[in-house]
Parts: sequence; C-alpha cells; structure tokens
Amino acid sequence: MSTEPVIATPSEAPAAPAAKVVLKDLSYADLEAFVAGPLGERKFRAQQLFRWVHLRGVRSFAEMTDLSAALRARLEELAEVGGLTVDAVLESKDGTKKLLLRLKDGSAIEAVLIPDDERLTLCVSTQVGCALACAFCATGKLGLLRHLTPGEIVDQVLRAGEIAGGPREITNIVLMGMGEPLHNYDGTMTALRNLCHAQGLNFSPRRITLSTVGMIPEMLRLGDELPVKLAVSLHAADNETRAKIMPINKKYDLEALIAACHEFPMPTRNRITFEYVMLRGVNTGLDHADRLGRLLRGLPSKVNLIPFNEHPGSEFERPTNAEVEAFKERLLTYNLPVMVRTTRGRDIAAACGQLWLQEEGLVPGPIYKGPARRAAARIE
Ligand code: SAH
Repeated sequence: MSTEPVIATPSEAPAAPAAKVVLKDLSYADLEAFVAGPLGERKFRAQQLFRWVHLRGVRSFAEMTDLSAALRARLEELAEVGGLTVDAVLESKDGTKKLLLRLKDGSAIEAVLIPDDERLTLCVSTQVGCALACAFCATGKLGLLRHLTPGEIVDQVLRAGEIAGGPREITNIVLMGMGEPLHNYDGTMTALRNLCHAQGLNFSPRRITLSTVGMIPEMLRLGDELPVKLAVSLHAADNETRAKIMPINKKYDLEALIAACHEFPMPTRNRITFEYVMLRGVNTGLDHADRLGRLLRGLPSKVNLIPFNEHPGSEFERPTNAEVEAFKERLLTYNLPVMVRTTRGRDIAAACGQLWLQEEGLVPGPIYKGPARRAAARIE
C-alpha cells in the first residue's frame, strides 16, 4: 500500500466550474475591477451594472435591457446577480409587515417593515442566527449559523422596497434584526456603503441606525469610517446584572464600553441611543434607573426602553406599564431624553427579540425547515 498522500494532480482532477462572481456582493471598486478584468469591458460599464443591481434591483441579466446580447451572455457565464427570495410576507394588524426571506443555501432570515406617521422603517438582519447569546433574545438561542453577505443585506432593502411601492418609500433603516452587525463587520460595511452609494439607492447614512451589543474595537472603527447613527444595547447599568444577561459583558465591561462611547466621534451624530430591554425583577427597579442615569451622565445620549417581548421558552417577564412608567419618570430626573419603544408586530412575532420563531415552528404561520447544523461559534 502506498504511503503517498492521495492528491489529484491538476490534470487528473475533474474540471470544477469556476464559482460565479456574485455582483450584488461586490463593493463598487471590486465591481470596477471585475468589469475591467475578467469581463474585459471598459470601466463605465461598472456604473451601468451597479445601477441595475443596486438601484433598480433586477434579479437577472435578461432584464438589463441596455446591454448587448453578447455582453449579457458573457455575464451569464461569469457572474450571477445575487439576492434572496421572498417566501412570505406576514402582516400585523398594526400595519407592520414581516418578510420571510430565503437565502440561496436554503437558510432563512427575516426583515420587518414598520410604518409610523411619516416614516417607514426597515429592520434588517445581518446574520443567520447570532453568536452573542443574550439570555432574553430568541435569535440568540440559535447560535450563529453564518454571516450574511453584503448582497443578502442590501437585498432585504430592495425586496422590502418592492413591497412598499419602491425603495424610496423606505425612510429609515435599522440594523436591529437577526444578528450582531459588528460581528459581521466587513459584510455589513460593504452593504451600507453600497446602500449609500450615489449610483445606487443613495441612502443617507444619517437615516441608518446600527445597533450593537458593544463590540468595542469594531464600534470605534465604525465611528471612523461611516457616519451612521449608533445604538448600544446596554440593558443594565452594573456589570453583575449585565454579565448575567449579556455574555459579551465578560469581554467588554461597562467601564470600557462607556469609555468607548465617550470616544465615539459625534460630529453630526447628535446622541447615542442606549437600548434597555426591561426584564421584570432583573433590571427594572428604581435603583437600576438611578445607576443608569449616573452612568450616562455627560454623554450625549438618549434612552430607549424596550419592555421585554415574551417568547415561548423565555424565562423572563415583561414589566407592567406602571413599572415602565415609574422607571421612565426616574430616568427623566437625570435630564435624559427617554422613550418607551412601542411594541409593533407582536401578533406576527416581528417585535424585538422575536425574530426566527416562525423558523423554529414556535408560533403559528409558515414553518420553515431550517438549516440542520448550528455553528458552535460563540463570542466569549
Ligand atoms: N445585535 C444587535 C442588534 C439586534 S437586536 C444588538 O444587540 O443591539 C435589537 C434590539 O432588540 C437589541 O437591543 C436587543 O437587545 C433587543 N431585544 C432582543 N430580544 C428582545 C426581547 N425579547 N424583547 C425586547 N427587546 C429585545
């Protein structure tokens, strides 16, 4: 028996078809490189392609009617447009719509359209599942399955735009769906740059809010690179409580997080939003409000209180309205703007922390067959 490792030489190996380039996943510069390189075209074609993909949101090369048949055939050979499929749209009685979106590998994600007086906000996912394992979050129970590609993030906006009567109808984007955007830093940044690109949807970064558990190095990098608004999931104002409900606090404690918030460049950013999920008996006492008020002193901030949205299997309880009000009143004495986030789309499991319940078959509605394997990755 030969002890030589069995490695096929190139001549013996079956010719594997080269993977196609997914245009929607490319940054503008990479698209230009693809056009000038493998495609062998002049650079201005990149602009034409970018507009088809990122502004008009076409799904196929056949729809790119101002390209010659020969060029379309060449594109077909080398590339694909990319994107996702809308499996279902669930509509809440309050007008919120949840999109169940299928990725090419069969896994599924969700995005939520939330109409408000003069605004239409789209809540976007950045990962399938999430590695952060916050104790109160349904998505966190999954673990991380994978990061979304830039095209899969952008396509949530394009597909939701179609449902809304055009992408321009969407006035705000919040990265508050499934996943931790800063854990998928590169994918999220390419997606945001493409959404804000003048040749694409030309979305204003000021109308985009990125919500994070507080991954400090990535948060500071974001502050240097893109003027989107920042929301930080705080949820407790002392390390003991926060570490119990958010494992990330063992890596980056509150002192480090608040110091990073002070450092976060805020030229045009008015205030950092601090999200505070209210878990009855865990972080809802007035002593917690006092601690929170003191912690945020001197920081341009506003507080968004989110009464816990219950989901099957969750061990936490939603506080009463009176408890929420008392907490809010106490915080207001610290001269902080405080808002209580209204729960939207609860009947279709579209509220904060409820995404993916359909997938797991925990609430009625279309039940997906989710990917079989869970990545073991956790951020500790
Ligand atoms: N990973 C990011 C963004 C996703 S979640 C982050 O943590 O900020 C968006 C917000 O919903 C976060 O503040 C999150 O803590 C909150 N949330 C999660 N589960 C919730 C639940 N069951 N009820 C209310 N808010 C919840």
